[in-house]
Amino acid sequence: MAESSSTKSGLRLAGKVAIVTGGASGIGKETTHVFVKQGARMVVIADIQDELGIQVAESIGTDKCTFIHCDIRIEDDVKNLVQSTINTYGQIDIMHCNAGIGSTTDQTLLEFDVSQANGVFATNAIGTALCVKYAARAMVEAKVRGSIVCTASIAGSYGTGRATDYSMSKHAVIGLMRSASVQLAKYGIRVNSVSPNGLATPLTEKMLGADAKTVEEVFSKNSMLKGVVLRTKNVADAVLFLASNESDFVTGLDLRVDGNFVTGAEVM
Ligand code: NAD
Repeated sequence: MAESSSTKSGLRLAGKVAIVTGGASGIGKETTHVFVKQGARMVVIADIQDELGIQVAESIGTDKCTFIHCDIRIEDDVKNLVQSTINTYGQIDIMHCNAGIGSTTDQTLLEFDVSQANGVFATNAIGTALCVKYAARAMVEAKVRGSIVCTASIAGSYGTGRATDYSMSKHAVIGLMRSASVQLAKYGIRVNSVSPNGLATPLTEKMLGADAKTVEEVFSKNSMLKGVVLRTKNVADAVLFLASNESDFVTGLDLRVDGNFVTGAEVM
């Protein structure tokens, strides 16, 4: 059997072209770094934070990483992201659909606000679906056995005390991942998700109005596993596994990076 380029180099993503949405910050930024370290030929960051995205790409080196402005809520932006990646780099092997937003207020069901919920859904559910759609179309057309990894959340598998719209939108991401994995299996395309427990990133620091250390302390109540603090690297390593050929026969999986979530912890 012919050796793949990743087997020969020992790097897990050797020669691959990847897109990371939300790559300017937090989990996506870390994934971008991990992908490049593991030999990805090019990682395209797609984000609405242009300045930060360009900074990340330049700090890595623009021969390995580049930035494209893309608002995943806008279908033409997502279409353009995928098309320009193919035009410039020839293919897409990996799509990490990671961009997402938190709940804008404490959305309990009794106070449910439709316009806020629509905003959360437009990004987390519909925007993610658009990213899966265009990445999958490109992979099908090019006959690439690609890997699509969505960032869901532990809030996509459990009920939450607050942030109802966020929890609903992340349940939708897991539903999207499952349906896409069924529909794309015949093309050899794998679709999986990672579901992190709460961790410190700009999203949660803003949501809780606290610094990273305080956020980590608050979220530590959410996991049974003690002695380890969940960091972006833990999530990026799980994404790497699902993106790489090491998970060649894994599809339709929601991989929880949660240290065993404590239900009813009421942090969210
Ligand atoms: P973050 O805010 O650091 O990063 C999110 C990135 O997504 C930002 O760079 C932001 O600009 C980008 N983004 C937001 N809306 C966008 C849009 N419409 N188009 C393109 N880019 C957009 O937050 P993070 O914690 O790294 O979040 C990454 C993902 O992880 C999200 O989907 C989030 O829901 C999920 N998640 C986070 C946690 C946590 O505790 N931090 C837990 C579980 C899941």
